[in-house]
Amino acid sequence: MVIEVLRIGQRLVRDDRVTTHVALVSRAFGADRIFMTEVNPEIKDTVGKINDTWGGNFVIEFIESWKPIIKKKKDESFKIVHLSMYGEKINTIQEKIRKEEKLLIVVGAEKVPREIYELADYNVGVGTQPHSEISALAILLDRIQEGMQFEKEFSNAKRKIIPTKSGKNVQVKETRD
Ligand code: SAM
Repeated sequence: MVIEVLRIGQRLVRDDRVTTHVALVSRAFGADRIFMTEVNPEIKDTVGKINDTWGGNFVIEFIESWKPIIKKKKDESFKIVHLSMYGEKINTIQEKIRKEEKLLIVVGAEKVPREIYELADYNVGVGTQPHSEISALAILLDRIQEGMQFEKEFSNAKRKIIPTKSGKNVQVKETRD
């Protein structure tokens, strides 16, 4: 399955930490790419450094506006999954979403334009209480991949954690200058 994420808008008070965490969760929970609007360019460096150390090919793309991306992805046969507390119950719809081949997951920051609800193939609620785009995204990514995202290898990593019961075990790959 190909999974991409679209993060729409930031709050009026810049919320770079939340935006960075949306990108990090996307990467660590198996998404391939994130599109972002109104973003501090430093976020690209932060995630770039993480890719460099911990591997993988996760891509951050800055965009001017969300609408052309949704249109383009629809043309490329992606299904649009919009996370919203008003949407269908995740427990009911997760099985159907798992069967899709290409997903664009849309998360908001503040109020999301009405049109997104209509453009989405699935509006999905992770519970019916307001919480956070970070938690909603993490739970959706886990439900649709059923935990298998954590079996994925990140290619060309300089560091790799060997899970251990106690302490820290990190494999460091030798690099030659
Ligand atoms: N009041 C805002 C609205 O109506 O769009 C909610 C903003 S919330 C802080 C930011 C984003 O988190 C939302 O756009 C949505 O993508 C996600 N979110 C928050 N709670 C959610 C829930 N219960 N289920 C699914 N997504 C949720």
